[in-house]
Amino acid sequence: MGIPSRRRFLFSGGAALVAPSFASLVAQTGSHATSDRSPDAVLHRLIEGNRHFVAGSLTHPGRTPNDFKALSQGQNPMAAILGCADSRVPPEILFDQGVGDLFVIRVAGNYVNGAGASVKGSLEYAVAELGVTLLMVLGHSQCGAVKAAIQHLNDKDALPGAINDLVNTIKPAVLESKDKPGDALENAIRANVKRSVERLQTLEPVVAPAVHAGKVKVVGGVYDLASGKVQLLS
Ligand SMILES: [Zn+2]
Repeated sequence: MGIPSRRRFLFSGGAALVAPSFASLVAQTGSHATSDRSPDAVLHRLIEGNRHFVAGSLTHPGRTPNDFKALSQGQNPMAAILGCADSRVPPEILFDQGVGDLFVIRVAGNYVNGAGASVKGSLEYAVAELGVTLLMVLGHSQCGAVKAAIQHLNDKDALPGAINDLVNTIKPAVLESKDKPGDALENAIRANVKRSVERLQTLEPVVAPAVHAGKVKVVGGVYDLASGKVQLLS
Protein backbone atom coordinates (compact mmCIF):
# COMPACT_ATOMS: atom_id res chain seq x y z
CA MET A 1 0.00 0.00 0.00
CA GLY A 2 3.02 2.27 0.21
CA ILE A 3 2.19 3.36 3.74
CA PRO A 4 5.76 3.89 4.98
CA SER A 5 6.53 6.84 2.72
CA ARG A 6 3.31 8.60 3.59
CA ARG A 7 3.77 7.92 7.29
CA ARG A 8 7.17 9.52 7.24
CA PHE A 9 5.50 12.64 5.94
CA LEU A 10 2.69 12.53 8.48
CA PHE A 11 4.77 12.04 11.55
CA SER A 12 7.86 14.01 10.70
CA GLY A 13 5.94 17.04 9.50
CA GLY A 14 8.48 17.34 6.71
CA ALA A 15 6.87 18.38 3.44
CA ALA A 16 10.21 17.77 1.69
CA LEU A 17 9.65 14.05 2.08
CA VAL A 18 6.57 14.12 -0.09
CA ALA A 19 7.34 12.65 -3.48
CA PRO A 20 6.80 15.23 -6.24
CA SER A 21 4.34 12.96 -8.00
CA PHE A 22 2.15 12.83 -4.93
CA ALA A 23 2.37 16.57 -4.37
CA SER A 24 1.26 17.32 -7.91
CA LEU A 25 -1.50 14.77 -7.60
CA VAL A 26 -2.82 16.48 -4.48
CA ALA A 27 -2.86 19.81 -6.27
CA GLN A 28 -4.93 18.46 -9.12
CA THR A 29 -7.47 16.09 -7.67
CA GLY A 30 -10.44 16.24 -5.36
CA SER A 31 -13.02 18.98 -5.23
CA HIS A 32 -11.47 20.35 -2.03
CA ALA A 33 -7.86 19.80 -3.04
CA THR A 34 -6.76 23.41 -2.69
CA SER A 35 -8.78 24.35 0.40
CA ASP A 36 -7.85 24.31 4.07
CA ARG A 37 -7.32 20.72 5.22
CA SER A 38 -7.03 21.35 8.94
CA PRO A 39 -9.30 19.04 10.99
CA ASP A 40 -11.53 21.91 12.10
CA ALA A 41 -11.89 23.27 8.57
CA VAL A 42 -12.83 19.83 7.26
CA LEU A 43 -15.34 19.35 10.05
CA HIS A 44 -16.81 22.76 9.26
CA ARG A 45 -17.28 21.74 5.61
CA LEU A 46 -19.10 18.58 6.65
CA ILE A 47 -21.38 20.51 9.00
CA GLU A 48 -22.07 23.06 6.26
CA GLY A 49 -22.83 20.26 3.82
CA ASN A 50 -25.24 18.69 6.27
CA ARG A 51 -26.98 22.06 6.60
CA HIS A 52 -27.55 22.04 2.84
CA PHE A 53 -28.94 18.53 3.08
CA VAL A 54 -31.31 19.37 5.94
CA ALA A 55 -32.52 22.47 4.09
CA GLY A 56 -33.08 20.53 0.87
CA SER A 57 -30.51 22.69 -0.94
CA LEU A 58 -27.79 20.23 -1.98
CA THR A 59 -24.99 21.65 -4.13
CA HIS A 60 -23.85 18.23 -5.48
CA PRO A 61 -20.13 19.12 -5.72
CA GLY A 62 -17.61 17.03 -7.62
CA ARG A 63 -20.03 14.97 -9.68
CA THR A 64 -19.34 15.98 -13.26
CA PRO A 65 -17.41 13.96 -15.88
CA ASN A 66 -14.51 16.39 -15.52
CA ASP A 67 -14.38 15.66 -11.81
CA PHE A 68 -14.28 11.91 -12.45
CA LYS A 69 -11.52 12.35 -15.03
CA ALA A 70 -9.31 14.27 -12.59
CA LEU A 71 -9.95 11.73 -9.85
CA SER A 72 -8.92 8.84 -12.08
CA GLN A 73 -5.32 9.91 -11.43
CA GLY A 74 -5.59 9.58 -7.66
CA GLN A 75 -7.70 10.30 -4.62
CA ASN A 76 -7.33 12.96 -1.98
CA PRO A 77 -10.25 12.61 0.44
CA MET A 78 -10.42 15.09 3.29
CA ALA A 79 -12.20 12.90 5.84
CA ALA A 80 -12.84 9.26 6.65
CA ILE A 81 -16.29 8.29 7.84
CA LEU A 82 -17.09 5.10 9.72
CA GLY A 83 -20.83 4.84 9.26
CA CYS A 84 -23.55 2.25 9.53
CA ALA A 85 -24.38 0.08 6.52
CA ASP A 86 -28.02 1.17 6.96
CA SER A 87 -29.42 2.17 3.56
CA ARG A 88 -30.71 5.45 4.96
CA VAL A 89 -27.33 6.88 5.98
CA PRO A 90 -25.25 7.65 2.85
CA PRO A 91 -22.38 9.97 3.90
CA GLU A 92 -21.70 11.72 0.57
CA ILE A 93 -25.35 12.70 0.27
CA LEU A 94 -26.10 13.75 3.83
CA PHE A 95 -22.88 15.81 3.99
CA ASP A 96 -23.35 17.16 0.43
CA GLN A 97 -19.87 16.09 -0.67
CA GLY A 98 -18.53 14.97 -4.01
CA VAL A 99 -16.93 11.86 -5.38
CA GLY A 100 -13.42 11.71 -3.96
CA ASP A 101 -14.12 13.85 -0.88
CA LEU A 102 -14.87 11.15 1.68
CA PHE A 103 -13.22 7.82 2.43
CA VAL A 104 -16.16 5.79 3.69
CA ILE A 105 -16.25 2.57 5.68
CA ARG A 106 -19.73 1.27 6.36
CA VAL A 107 -20.41 -1.54 8.78
CA ALA A 108 -23.72 -2.39 10.44
CA GLY A 109 -23.44 -0.81 13.88
CA ASN A 110 -20.47 1.45 12.97
CA TYR A 111 -18.15 0.05 15.62
CA VAL A 112 -14.37 -0.22 15.89
CA ASN A 113 -13.81 -2.39 18.96
CA GLY A 114 -13.91 -5.99 17.82
CA ALA A 115 -14.38 -5.06 14.18
CA GLY A 116 -11.03 -6.55 13.22
CA ALA A 117 -8.42 -5.59 10.70
CA SER A 118 -10.70 -4.52 7.88
CA VAL A 119 -12.21 -1.55 9.72
CA LYS A 120 -9.12 -0.53 11.68
CA GLY A 121 -6.82 -1.09 8.70
CA SER A 122 -9.08 0.94 6.41
CA LEU A 123 -9.10 3.89 8.81
CA GLU A 124 -5.34 3.63 9.34
CA TYR A 125 -4.86 3.57 5.58
CA ALA A 126 -6.97 6.73 5.27
CA VAL A 127 -4.74 8.51 7.79
CA ALA A 128 -1.32 7.14 6.86
CA GLU A 129 -1.60 6.90 3.11
CA LEU A 130 -4.35 9.30 2.08
CA GLY A 131 -3.69 11.98 4.66
CA VAL A 132 -7.25 12.54 5.85
CA THR A 133 -7.33 14.94 8.80
CA LEU A 134 -10.74 14.05 10.17
CA LEU A 135 -12.15 10.69 11.27
CA MET A 136 -15.85 10.68 11.99
CA VAL A 137 -17.78 7.84 13.58
CA LEU A 138 -21.35 8.29 12.43
CA GLY A 139 -24.16 6.52 14.24
CA HIS A 140 -27.83 7.07 13.52
CA SER A 141 -31.24 7.02 15.14
CA GLN A 142 -33.18 3.75 15.11
CA CYS A 143 -30.02 1.72 14.36
CA GLY A 144 -31.09 -1.91 13.89
CA ALA A 145 -27.74 -3.30 15.03
CA VAL A 146 -27.93 -1.42 18.34
CA LYS A 147 -31.61 -2.34 18.71
CA ALA A 148 -30.67 -6.00 18.32
CA ALA A 149 -27.94 -5.66 20.93
CA ILE A 150 -30.50 -4.30 23.41
CA GLN A 151 -33.06 -6.93 22.50
CA HIS A 152 -30.62 -9.83 22.77
CA LEU A 153 -28.55 -8.48 25.64
CA ASN A 154 -28.86 -11.58 27.76
CA ASP A 155 -29.38 -14.16 25.03
CA LYS A 156 -26.83 -16.71 23.92
CA ASP A 157 -26.78 -17.83 20.28
CA ALA A 158 -29.92 -15.82 19.70
CA LEU A 159 -29.10 -14.86 16.14
CA PRO A 160 -27.84 -16.93 13.22
CA GLY A 161 -24.31 -16.94 11.91
CA ALA A 162 -22.03 -13.94 12.27
CA ILE A 163 -24.97 -11.65 13.06
CA ASN A 164 -24.66 -12.93 16.59
CA ASP A 165 -21.00 -11.91 16.80
CA LEU A 166 -21.83 -8.51 15.35
CA VAL A 167 -24.54 -7.90 17.93
CA ASN A 168 -22.38 -9.22 20.77
CA THR A 169 -19.69 -6.73 19.84
CA ILE A 170 -22.13 -3.86 20.36
CA LYS A 171 -23.44 -5.14 23.72
CA PRO A 172 -20.78 -3.38 25.86
CA ALA A 173 -22.18 -0.04 24.65
CA VAL A 174 -25.64 -1.15 25.75
CA LEU A 175 -24.36 -2.22 29.17
CA GLU A 176 -22.42 1.01 29.57
CA SER A 177 -25.50 3.16 28.98
CA LYS A 178 -28.33 1.06 30.40
CA ASP A 179 -28.69 2.90 33.72
CA LYS A 180 -28.66 6.36 32.21
CA PRO A 181 -31.83 8.46 32.19
CA GLY A 182 -33.68 8.93 28.92
CA ASP A 183 -34.31 6.70 25.94
CA ALA A 184 -32.38 3.42 26.16
CA LEU A 185 -31.87 3.08 22.40
CA GLU A 186 -30.67 6.67 21.93
CA ASN A 187 -28.30 6.31 24.89
CA ALA A 188 -26.88 3.05 23.52
CA ILE A 189 -26.43 4.57 20.04
CA ARG A 190 -24.46 7.45 21.53
CA ALA A 191 -22.43 5.19 23.80
CA ASN A 192 -21.59 2.99 20.81
CA VAL A 193 -20.31 5.98 18.84
CA LYS A 194 -18.33 7.31 21.80
CA ARG A 195 -16.68 3.95 22.37
CA SER A 196 -15.52 3.90 18.76
CA VAL A 197 -14.25 7.49 18.97
CA GLU A 198 -12.26 6.66 22.09
CA ARG A 199 -10.89 3.50 20.52
CA LEU A 200 -9.70 5.40 17.47
CA GLN A 201 -8.11 8.15 19.55
CA THR A 202 -5.93 5.53 21.23
CA LEU A 203 -5.40 3.25 18.23
CA GLU A 204 -1.68 2.62 17.86
CA PRO A 205 0.51 2.89 15.90
CA VAL A 206 -1.03 5.09 13.21
CA VAL A 207 -4.06 7.03 14.43
CA ALA A 208 -3.14 7.86 18.04
CA PRO A 209 0.19 9.57 17.19
CA ALA A 210 -1.50 11.60 14.46
CA VAL A 211 -4.20 12.67 16.95
CA HIS A 212 -1.59 13.61 19.57
CA ALA A 213 0.32 15.61 16.99
CA GLY A 214 -2.84 17.58 16.16
CA LYS A 215 -2.78 16.39 12.55
CA VAL A 216 -5.96 14.34 12.89
CA LYS A 217 -9.17 14.81 14.84
CA VAL A 218 -11.62 12.04 15.72
CA VAL A 219 -15.24 13.07 16.23
CA GLY A 220 -18.52 11.29 16.77
CA GLY A 221 -21.89 12.16 15.33
CA VAL A 222 -25.42 10.81 15.29
CA TYR A 223 -27.58 11.21 12.22
CA ASP A 224 -31.29 11.70 12.81
CA LEU A 225 -33.26 9.77 10.19
CA ALA A 226 -36.32 12.01 10.46
CA SER A 227 -34.68 15.45 10.23
CA GLY A 228 -31.53 14.59 8.26
CA LYS A 229 -29.43 16.42 10.82
CA VAL A 230 -26.10 15.17 12.15
CA GLN A 231 -25.56 16.07 15.77
CA LEU A 232 -21.96 16.04 16.91
CA LEU A 233 -21.24 14.38 20.24
CA SER A 234 -19.09 16.25 22.69
ZN1 LIG B 1 -27.46 1.21 11.89
